[in-house]
Amino acid sequence: MFGEEGIDLSEEDKALLSAWRELIERRYYKDIESLLAYRDEVFGFDVQHHDLASNDILRSAFHEQPVHCLELGNTVLKEQFQRAGVHMRGVLRVVGLGDEYRTTIDALRMRNRYKLVSIDVKIVEVSDAYGWLKVAAYRCRDCKDEQTIVQRRARERESPHFCMACIRKAQESDDENQVPVSLLARRPNFALVTEDCFYEDAQSLRVRQVVYDDEGHVLNDAAPESLEAVVADEMVGRLTPSTYYRLNAVVKLEPLRDRTFAKDTRRVLSLEVISAEELALFPA
Ligand SMILES: [Zn+2]
Repeated sequence: MFGEEGIDLSEEDKALLSAWRELIERRYYKDIESLLAYRDEVFGFDVQHHDLASNDILRSAFHEQPVHCLELGNTVLKEQFQRAGVHMRGVLRVVGLGDEYRTTIDALRMRNRYKLVSIDVKIVEVSDAYGWLKVAAYRCRDCKDEQTIVQRRARERESPHFCMACIRKAQESDDENQVPVSLLARRPNFALVTEDCFYEDAQSLRVRQVVYDDEGHVLNDAAPESLEAVVADEMVGRLTPSTYYRLNAVVKLEPLRDRTFAKDTRRVLSLEVISAEELALFPA
């Protein structure tokens, strides 16, 4: 869904792709080959943060733009899975984040949005699993050219504003009658191609901070503040209520659940989980 083909990559992204490729080939290719017997649809592939951080490009990209960095990493993982003949869809799960990412739920503020954090929590509630349209595919009704648009969860679906293929055609043509309808129409002329859309499995969790001592005895897991955390892909269905996890996540802003008008500006913080590590704790 995010390929190198047909996309003009920036120099930074090219460097990031080769850094991922170097790391995965050198350090993780044997692990990928050992997955040949697995038959899952999606496989969460653990990468240790200290391995990633040993490369300057990966370390700073993961820190500054974790979601984009992982997207490019997943492209490389897909390519390496194919190379090894593994038929699952691999999803990178960076684990073992350093202490600099550790924080607590009550310390999170709006300024932390898009930041990477690592928080120890108790899973309090788990929603039903649901799917959401992550990448929508559109076909131009004039020239049948297809394009995809990455969507945002819990937001209105976005459609393309124009068709590049039609613009090119119009530029090359002198005949005014040849101008495609989609360039003249107030509403762009696109159809959603459902069979080419990508739906991601997701699940919302409600989590509370857990505080524990050095031996892993829980001191407090009933703080008043709770937070929504969203997991996807192979993590759906894995995290169950009353268990403890270290969630490594990107802080996101989400619209209020009970908003009654579309342009409501109120937002709540939420966690987009990039990996979850179970904590072996002893409840009080
Ligand atoms: Zn077109």
